[in-house]
Amino acid sequence: MGFKSKNHSSKTDLNEISGLIPFLKVNIYNQSGITVDVLSIGPLRTNVGLVICQGYGIVIDAPPESAETIFSIALEKKISLKALLITHYHWDHIGSASIFRKKGLAVYAYALDAPFIEHTARAKLLLPLDFSIESCKVDHILSDGENFMLQELSIQALWIPGHTEGGAAYYFKDLSICFVGDTLFAGTVGRSDLPGGNKHALFENIRKKLYSLPDEIQVIPGHGWLTTIGKEKKENSYVRPKK
Ligand SMILES: [Zn+2]
Repeated sequence: MGFKSKNHSSKTDLNEISGLIPFLKVNIYNQSGITVDVLSIGPLRTNVGLVICQGYGIVIDAPPESAETIFSIALEKKISLKALLITHYHWDHIGSASIFRKKGLAVYAYALDAPFIEHTARAKLLLPLDFSIESCKVDHILSDGENFMLQELSIQALWIPGHTEGGAAYYFKDLSICFVGDTLFAGTVGRSDLPGGNKHALFENIRKKLYSLPDEIQVIPGHGWLTTIGKEKKENSYVRPKK
């Protein structure tokens, strides 16, 4: 949940994107049998990652309405879905998590956000009134900097608190991509005024853990356009790299 939107015109503004692109779907990697697609799904057009490797699929984030779309892609491509990596517990990122888990996907999340995913009533404050989100067990509770393997892909979990207490970015080093949830956006940053938010922690961890990645790393934020570490280090006016 949540962009920090700028007053002046910015192509990263969510409303503007919604008006122009009803459904973002881009292929950002296609090499040696590995593909990565990003689809924007659900009421807040959350970016969902689908990484396919050796006939297995890894899904990043599970907004409401995403399960049907991803299941139909899996059927069409004849792949078996293996894991769901959750960036943070906000409803627009976990609305379909329990549906994915019932279909056999193993769920991953960072330790401090896991309790809110497992007991969504605790996160109720953030839901629109007519919404309820089913709780979902987290199978793999991650720690900061933890490396894990899915198929032949090595993934590092980076703890980026500040948008939520336990937000995680997922760095796929071999693919030069990083899913960052609602921490860093193209030209802006995530909100830090929601429960559990902390502006200082957010800025500090973006600098320390995201800006330290190589410039060419492609960044997939939780909403809106994709960007790169190098571009944000150069152009993001909210978080400047340390001199
Ligand atoms: Zn959020």
